[in-house]
Amino acid sequence: MKKKSSGKSRGYFLIIMCLVCVLMIGSSFAMLSNYSGTIERESGEVALSFVEGAANNLKSSIDAFKMKAKSLADTVAGMEYESDIDFATRLHRLSKDERFGDVMFVRFFNNDKEYDVSGQVFESEMEAPAVKKTAELRTLSCAGVIADRQYNLSTVAFCVPIDGFDYADMLVVCYPVTSVVTYSASYTTENYENSRFVAFCAAQGEIVRVLYRDENVDVQQHGNIYEILRNEINDKNILDGFRVNVEAGTSEKYTVDVAGDKCIISVCGVRENGNAIFSAVGYYMAEEIYKTGYDVMRVILGEFFVFFALALALGIYGIIERRNNRKLLSTMNDVNKAVGCYSRSKFERVAIEIISRNKATSFAIVVIDINHYDYILEQIGTETMLNIVRHLKVLYNGILGLDESLGYIENGRFALLLHYRQVGDLADRLLPVVALATQHSSQFTDSFSLVLQGGIYTTDRKIADTVTKMIDLAINAENATKFPCDFGSFRIYNETLYASNIQNDYIETHMESALQNHDFKVFYQAKYNIAEDRPDGCEALVRWYNPSRDEYMQPDVFLPLFEANRFIIKLDHYVFEQTCLYIQDAVINGLPLYPISVNASRITASEKDFVKFYTDMKHQYNIADGFITIEFTESFAYEDYDMLRSIVNELHKNGFKCSIDDFGSGFSSYNILKELPMDEIKLDRFFIKDGYSHDRDMKILSSIISLARDLHMKVTQEGVETQEQVDLLRKLGCQVVQGYYYSKPLALTDYIGFLSNEKKLK
Ligand code: C2E
Ligand code: CA
Ligand code: CA
Repeated sequence: MKKKSSGKSRGYFLIIMCLVCVLMIGSSFAMLSNYSGTIERESGEVALSFVEGAANNLKSSIDAFKMKAKSLADTVAGMEYESDIDFATRLHRLSKDERFGDVMFVRFFNNDKEYDVSGQVFESEMEAPAVKKTAELRTLSCAGVIADRQYNLSTVAFCVPIDGFDYADMLVVCYPVTSVVTYSASYTTENYENSRFVAFCAAQGEIVRVLYRDENVDVQQHGNIYEILRNEINDKNILDGFRVNVEAGTSEKYTVDVAGDKCIISVCGVRENGNAIFSAVGYYMAEEIYKTGYDVMRVILGEFFVFFALALALGIYGIIERRNNRKLLSTMNDVNKAVGCYSRSKFERVAIEIISRNKATSFAIVVIDINHYDYILEQIGTETMLNIVRHLKVLYNGILGLDESLGYIENGRFALLLHYRQVGDLADRLLPVVALATQHSSQFTDSFSLVLQGGIYTTDRKIADTVTKMIDLAINAENATKFPCDFGSFRIYNETLYASNIQNDYIETHMESALQNHDFKVFYQAKYNIAEDRPDGCEALVRWYNPSRDEYMQPDVFLPLFEANRFIIKLDHYVFEQTCLYIQDAVINGLPLYPISVNASRITASEKDFVKFYTDMKHQYNIADGFITIEFTESFAYEDYDMLRSIVNELHKNGFKCSIDDFGSGFSSYNILKELPMDEIKLDRFFIKDGYSHDRDMKILSSIISLARDLHMKVTQEGVETQEQVDLLRKLGCQVVQGYYYSKPLALTDYIGFLSNEKKLK
């Protein structure tokens, strides 16, 4: 039982551990994925900050070129010219002056017309729309990259308005892209060396300068940024988003998976007058720009993996261990090591296998017990008992033939599987062994000779389909002491027993309602004092009334069951209360009344509040001290001697008398008389049953009576049926008799009538 519950709690523990592990793994994963999201965001921010740096650098460069263009315009406007041609020629010459940077070419506007430095009107539809748009704004600004068809060159155009000057109202100064789109030394190389590439591109996506590229990426000046990224990434949404950023000159970062690696594209625009003119674009491996974050993550992942692998290994180890243990346990459970015999479970498995293999054979399941096992064990100790049990095993084993088996159940009880032709065969095989066992027991102890008894279930009855049930039915037969034995001390499970099993089912399903309906009736059996020739009292005895059949069921039918299912406690309490009610009623109504004995089963008396319940009720019904005697069975005395003694002492304190019932039926010893302060002993019917044929019995009876009287105990003989018995008992000094000779147990009204008659007779 204990083992089972500890196994159960271990099972719960394992389940809880598994749940905790799953929770831990789940929360770790959540944390990791959260962390990896954070790392991704962080690396995106870093990537963005790099291109922002590059874009700012480019902005400063553009501003510097603006100033150069402006100083060219100022110089031009501050001079005198003879003619338009003179102006154009000198403008051309000045534009080559190094003070104004490496100007590629200049053009100018005058009165909405555009001219080149040869003084010719420039075909305006050839001009880049960006320049026209910028010129119209009339502020010093950069128009971005223009592809000049005339020179077949890409340049960066700056528009410089001039006020109050006759020859021109706006200069367009163009510098080579490579000069403008540059970056200063202050922009540290770290910021692009960890990239796959960093480049500037124009608003149309043309790459105008590659700041850095690693050898794996084919990014070239004059290539198109969209095409390059399309080769790398195939996420259309990201590419479209990226294009929008470049065309609008806005900033953004994108994380993409490229061949299993996390990559980041960052873009930052350079705008002029609200329009995009350039973008700085970076393409990075996330891990390289946020190395620490990814390192931490790798370490955590690694540790996590190790932990997981360890847990898994431990789990597998645990499972294997458990399985091995179970295997070991099951083989251990197969054999009772101390006895050296199959355990019950193994026996059951073996037996069912044999039975189902030999369908045509008649089998019997035989259980053999040691009579009064507990009592003998207490007397001789476990070691001697084990030796006896081992010896029994050898004897039983000796009668086994082919396809027969033996198992040890517990407490000296064995089960045998035997085959037979006729029941007589079983008797022939079992009785000699039983006789031998009794003979041999003197080898182990001289205080007892072993008595064996048994029960048999034969498979032809077909009531049980499992060996477990067959064993139970064989035990059932063995315990059916009210039926005669079939041979020796063996009983075979039969129809009557089957019927009594059915009856047991009825009893167990109806007992509660019977108690509610007051179907349990208390009968009273008078006792008579033969020494003083007067009534002595009575004993309360229960019966179960069946109103539909108008008949009574005797207690020996239902009480053993109530002891097994503990309903006896309720019933004893009920009988006691009914008795108290009767006493109270008789006192109130002035009816003749004598002391009453009630029975208390071992189960009832072992209850914690036993004495309290009886005492409380005694007070409730105002019962005089010494009026009620409580009878305990002799077997209770030797099962728990100390307990009974303390109960008796408590009962005495509370005004009860105590009696020992069925004295002499079991292993009564003089010690019971000596040690337990009883007020009465009730001698078992067995003393007088055979008409005192045995001289020896008489001697014992006589000495018990005189010993009890010496100890001031009342001696009552039960089951007295004849005048002859009364005479003899009187001679032996027995004071009180109870039995049919005087009165049968009577229903309450009959008993009251009986007492009144008695009185009249006196
Ligand atoms: P017991 O206490 O030994 O009761 C005496 C039994 O002997 C009674 O059987 C009674 O009817 C029977 N008896 C009395 N005089 C004679 C006689 O001259 N000859 C024969 N052959 N038998 C006689 P009963 O009423 O069947 O009770 C059987 C047992 O049931 C009782 O044995 C007692 O141990 C138990 N019992 C009865 N009522 C109760 C109860 O309320 N509580 C408990 N715990 N046990 C009870
Ligand atoms: Ca009794
Ligand atoms: Ca008795």
